Amino acid sequence: IGVVSVIDGHRQWIKASDGTNVREIELGKTFCALTVQRSGPLIVPDALADPRFHKSPHVIGYPYVRFYAGMPLTTHDGYNIGTICAIGHEPRAFSEREAGILSDLARVTMDELELRQLAVTDNLTGLMSRGAFREEAEKAIALALRHKHHLSIVAIDLDHFKSINDRYGHGVGDTVLRGVAQACMETQRQTDHLGRLGGEEFAALLPHTDRAGAMETAEKLRLTIQGLIFNAAGKEIDVAASFGVASLDLETKDFDTLLAHADAALYEAKAAGRNRSGGWRRAVEAVGH
Ligand code: GH3
Ligand code: MG
Ligand code: MG
Repeated sequence: IGVVSVIDGHRQWIKASDGTNVREIELGKTFCALTVQRSGPLIVPDALADPRFHKSPHVIGYPYVRFYAGMPLTTHDGYNIGTICAIGHEPRAFSEREAGILSDLARVTMDELELRQLAVTDNLTGLMSRGAFREEAEKAIALALRHKHHLSIVAIDLDHFKSINDRYGHGVGDTVLRGVAQACMETQRQTDHLGRLGGEEFAALLPHTDRAGAMETAEKLRLTIQGLIFNAAGKEIDVAASFGVASLDLETKDFDTLLAHADAALYEAKAAGRNRSGGWRRAVEAVGH
């Protein structure tokens, strides 16, 4: 049996495997629970002869582990997040060379996981990238349609952001973007998602939220951003943003349409004077704050 798993406080989640269909395991005193606490491999040539494991339910019962070789999966900044392991039904030895191979496989697995993480995260703000946001939104929309619950999206665009760059420089502009992202994250519910869709454009995905709820969220975010103070060159920089809200309805059932509606409402909010929220209506009329 070969397994790649990630481990949290209670469970071991099997992310890839060969030879077993088990998807999650109660953590307890499993082999991998021990491996994830180590800096090197854990090799158990014969589990029945090892007092740490000879009474383990995974040894005396399914999957009848006799041999175990596991290596922690370690992030580049030094955290063990899971394991990669090989399990056999017969006792056996494990050579240095084989341990080296397992260690290489652990590194390759982590590289792959961390690359995926990079692709879904925006470098500057740590928010979801545009692609990741779209993917998350499409999943949430499918769920909302199936279970007939509300879902809304809020498009966010910073006001006159170009002039912040022009006046104070790109570095200060970046600091503002990071600060705005951070503040929005703190304001949001855990279940909401925030993405950076472009330069100074963000979007919030609000599952289980109808239009009125989304307008409220937009207003909360607007006040949060308006309340932020940044300092540069001894001056205080004011920031503000405009918001466009759109919700799923009988005619709005896909991400692109939903985002287009939110953008149209946002455009109206800009035209109406900025630093305000607008809700999409069929005739696209912006609602002031
Ligand atoms: P409006 O109120 O109409 O939205 O005006 P605006 O100036 O915000 O709009 P515009 O879209 O013209 O300008 C966006 C600016 O955002 C221009 C671009 O240089 C800047 N920008 C885009 N990405 C980044 C970034 O990663 N860092 C910084 N510092 N600036 C960025
Ligand atoms: Mg813009
Ligand atoms: Mg802008």
